[in-house]
Amino acid sequence: MPEFSFELNEEQKSVRDWIHGFAQDVMRPAAAEWDEREETPWPIIQEAAKIGLYSLDFYAQQFFDPTGLGIPMTMEELFWGDAGIALSIVGTGLAAVGVLANGTEEQVGTWVPQMYGDANDVKVAAFCSSEPDAGSDVASMRTRAVYDEAKDEWVLNGTKTWATNGGIASVHVVVAVVDPELGSKGHASFIIPPGTPGLSQGQKFQKHGIRASHTAEVVLEDVRVPGDCLLGGKPKLDERLARARERDALSAAGAERVKNAAMATFEASRPAVGAMAVGTARAAYEEALEYAKTRTQFGRPIIDNQGVAFQLADMRTQIDAARLLVWRASWMAAAGRPFTAAEGSMSKLYASETAKKVTAQAIQILGGNGYTREYPVERMHRDSAIYTIFEGTSEIQRLVIARTLSGMPIR
Ligand SMILES: Cc1cc2nc3c(=O)[nH]c(=O)nc-3n(C[C@H](O)[C@H](O)[C@H](O)COP(=O)(O)OP(=O)(O)OC[C@H]3O[C@@H](n4cnc5c(N)ncnc54)[C@H](O)[C@@H]3O)c2cc1C
Repeated sequence: MPEFSFELNEEQKSVRDWIHGFAQDVMRPAAAEWDEREETPWPIIQEAAKIGLYSLDFYAQQFFDPTGLGIPMTMEELFWGDAGIALSIVGTGLAAVGVLANGTEEQVGTWVPQMYGDANDVKVAAFCSSEPDAGSDVASMRTRAVYDEAKDEWVLNGTKTWATNGGIASVHVVVAVVDPELGSKGHASFIIPPGTPGLSQGQKFQKHGIRASHTAEVVLEDVRVPGDCLLGGKPKLDERLARARERDALSAAGAERVKNAAMATFEASRPAVGAMAVGTARAAYEEALEYAKTRTQFGRPIIDNQGVAFQLADMRTQIDAARLLVWRASWMAAAGRPFTAAEGSMSKLYASETAKKVTAQAIQILGGNGYTREYPVERMHRDSAIYTIFEGTSEIQRLVIARTLSGMPIR
């Protein structure tokens, strides 16, 4: 089991500095432009691909870092650069992790490289779970996948929403209901290969923040995919469904075990979102600190006022606390430690709330300038609002933490 460390090792530090250089030199100068354009920054993704920062190899390396700190470190630096562009770069990872977690070795080998493409022809991928009537309440999902045994094909119908890269992705990973009687235990994930007829992009959303990241509805009308596009394969699905039916019939404890396994997956992935929030918060704090030291009013730098200096002290304290929670949860996931207090959700809750607070304080410290698009804290504040919404809202994180601590079915 890796020792927990408050410091990155030498190799991690050099990777961090390399990502930081890209964030500083390539992402930062392009951030305002792509925010205004509200389009996927393909040239920046391509730049990242050219240096190996947008590749399966790089993310796999960070994902399997035994200390657990590879992913949070990567996320923090990229989102320090710019949240919208960073999400365009890491959004593919969400779909890739869906295949890595549930797919067979063959499925991983076939589909994950196609999600990234290569430096000359970059691609992105989308993970489509949320629906208009199934956001926090995943069990309300309606998109249906029906098996056509004669043709060994699955037929999917439904509408997904809020899909990052939805409709512009090469590969879409779609979660659908295969057995409506089993609630969320009757769901399965499917690969929709590039160019499959019946899949189309619905509405593209115009957003408050992270506007360089494409978010859209994905409509599935009689989408037919080969049997081997079911992640994990049919025998495994049949076995899982049979077990779920048996547990439903016989034992509440069994059903609880399945739920716990799903929760453990979320606990392991949520710290990555916490790290994104830490990146944005740190960026806004640094802007505010610099401004407070140089902006003069009443004949002295504004940081000479306790009212400003104390805000900065609080901002930095909360950012460091958020990072420590993120690192603890990431290390626990890598070490296989049980999340007995929902530490993953805790880290995401605290870091996302911190980012919203810190970016608002940064605007305050920059005064009128902070409120304009001439200064990046305005964009950072808009961007930060996403962290308390996706990958489970703050309310859902509190629900998970409270239920885990108390063992009670709190509503
Ligand atoms: C920019 C963006 C990108 C996204 N990317 C993806 C993606 O790539 N793939 C994907 O599948 N999804 C994605 N999502 C969807 C995201 O995960 C959902 O928006 C999120 O889960 C919340 O669901 P909802 O929007 O339907 O809100 P709702 O679930 O309708 O929630 C509305 C409000 O009610 C509160 N609430 C709901 N239930 C409870 C409860 N039991 N107790 C207390 N409060 C409650 C919520 O906290 C929230 O404040 C994305 C969303 C956005 C905005």
